[in-house]
Amino acid sequence: MDCPKCAREMKELALESHLGTAVAIDVCTPCQAFWFDKYESLKLSAGSTLELMKLIGEHSTKEQLPESGILRCPRCWDPLRYTNDLQGSTHFTYFRCVSEHGRFIRFFDFLKEKKFIRALTPQEIVQLRKSLQTVNCSNCGAPVSLTAGAVCAHCGSPLSILDMKQPERMLEQLRRAAEPQPVDPHLSLKLAMAKREVEHIFGPAPDDQWWSDVSAIGLVQAGLNSIVRRLKKNDPL
Ligand SMILES: [Zn+2]
Ligand SMILES: [Zn+2]
Ligand SMILES: [Zn+2]
Repeated sequence: MDCPKCAREMKELALESHLGTAVAIDVCTPCQAFWFDKYESLKLSAGSTLELMKLIGEHSTKEQLPESGILRCPRCWDPLRYTNDLQGSTHFTYFRCVSEHGRFIRFFDFLKEKKFIRALTPQEIVQLRKSLQTVNCSNCGAPVSLTAGAVCAHCGSPLSILDMKQPERMLEQLRRAAEPQPVDPHLSLKLAMAKREVEHIFGPAPDDQWWSDVSAIGLVQAGLNSIVRRLKKNDPL
């Protein structure tokens, strides 16, 4: 399938849904975006979501391709509609096919949709300001002065960070999603194992590398890098 934005062929990823079935997702790393067919994004298992986070961490770049004109659905070729959505209090956007073939979503917005991104607290901004003067906006890449405030002057996004607590909540959602389904005797065991994995990965506090990453590439990318390092070291997936 060709990327709606740059027309390069997207890479197809075979992942697992939380019901154990296969989910195919397309990724364009130059555009930093995924194509999800209808509802695929909602079906991802915890392990698959972590796999996508790892992919994002390994392929994120500070530079972003300029916005292009009309994006078209790779299935029906109709123009995709720019859509604002809300996950909790977090705004995120994507381009969707009005005939519901699917949607094109940037890495950063996917992380927002999965509630892996949260705004910095005032205390965290004070803490960061002690070590850094500017950080790069995780939405648009522009430098944001920490002394001027907590919002990117270029795109209006609040300064954001990868929320390390979110995997716990994600697992809770997953449990709820599994409830109406027929009872799988292995499910609670699988969930317990996934929970341990997640705690293992997201447990420790930021290290020295995190701090140098924050000043070089921004808060969200620094969090992703630390996850990629831990995933590589433990290889739990
Ligand atoms: Zn592309
Ligand atoms: Zn379509
Ligand atoms: Zn920005």
